Amino acid sequence: MNSRRDFLQKITGSALGLSLLSTSSNGNTLIEDANQEPVLRVAIMGLGSYGTRVAEAMKDCKRAKLVGVISGTPSKVKDWQSKYSIPAKNCYNYENFDNIKNNPDIDAVYIITPNALHREQCIRVAKAGKHVICEKPMAINAAEGQEMVDACKRANVKLLVGYRMHLEPKTLEIIRMRNEGEFGKVLFFQGLCGFRIGDPNQWRLNKQLAGGGAMMDIGIYAVNGARYMVGEEPTYVTAQETKTDFVKFKEGVDETIQFQFGFPSGAVASCLSTYSMNNLDRFFLNGEKGFAEMQPSTGYGPIKAKTNKGELNHPHITHQTVQMDEMAGMILNEKKPIVPVDGEEGLKDLKIIDAIYLAIKTGKKVDLKL
Ligand code: NAD
Repeated sequence: MNSRRDFLQKITGSALGLSLLSTSSNGNTLIEDANQEPVLRVAIMGLGSYGTRVAEAMKDCKRAKLVGVISGTPSKVKDWQSKYSIPAKNCYNYENFDNIKNNPDIDAVYIITPNALHREQCIRVAKAGKHVICEKPMAINAAEGQEMVDACKRANVKLLVGYRMHLEPKTLEIIRMRNEGEFGKVLFFQGLCGFRIGDPNQWRLNKQLAGGGAMMDIGIYAVNGARYMVGEEPTYVTAQETKTDFVKFKEGVDETIQFQFGFPSGAVASCLSTYSMNNLDRFFLNGEKGFAEMQPSTGYGPIKAKTNKGELNHPHITHQTVQMDEMAGMILNEKKPIVPVDGEEGLKDLKIIDAIYLAIKTGKKVDLKL
């Protein structure tokens, strides 16, 4: 096998792109990249705008390959089949995708559908014995998130959440600097996340499908960012909601929320989540000896970051390309990321979001145990 592979690599490595075929001990076909690392074969569920972005980014992946789709729209499936050379046997719809369990050529399903659908879809994928990558928010509350974590554990499959910023080089450099004490004791984090949402009829403004409003969609970046920038888990949350448009933002769909965290070290965070203001994509971390500033901080990039020591100049690589290659390593080689991207991590954000909504409802500080 090795000599055939060596031979093929020498003569046709470039013609085959970075992929070669081999056979695993259980008879399944494995694709391997030119470095003979196994390639994660992914089916995308939900061929919408972010699904399309991920598919395009995966063209440049070395360790992950788009091989299948799950969609309710036959015309989209046809289009994707020809665009990404997807065989008919790897195409499913929302009724029949449980049959993916009989497909040895798909390792993982990436769920990129409206938030409220993630729970059931994840559980079905896990039951089919495939690894799950799920978009943020992992679910619409912690109870549902817990069910997903449990289902994946039971099925012995991995559950990862699409936290692309956890793998972004400038973010990781700031985390390294903080860990090495370059900012001194961390005192304060500010996270401002928002945009002006358009079409009032989209699922993001439908509580049934979105699970909430801006907090579920964009505020979660500040929730999550506060945790990885400070490097601690919050112990309490306070929160206040304001609404200016009661038609667009119906009951249960939050427009603007300000929230605050306290951390065990005494550090505090102050954050804003909104669907009503543009140009809000900013993180600021302050310590006794220095600071880090990112703007944009969580958009598709390039991310701009500077610290008290100057600008960070790490080259921009498409986030989703890095994410999928790294996730392939996590799924296939047990690679451990610096900042976790697993189901437990997604669950922590959901517990915090539940607490934020409770703090708004009660007007009281809510304690957290993560
Ligand atoms: P979208 O509306 O563009 O796409 C959603 C897809 O789900 C569509 O193809 C739609 O046909 C399909 N779908 C299946 N069942 C549906 C139903 N019952 N109702 C509506 N649509 C249904 O949305 P999107 O922007 O691609 O977002 C999808 C997920 O990706 C969300 O969870 C969102 O939070 C997440 N997302 C993550 C990032 C990121 O940077 N990580 C960016 C954008 C979106």
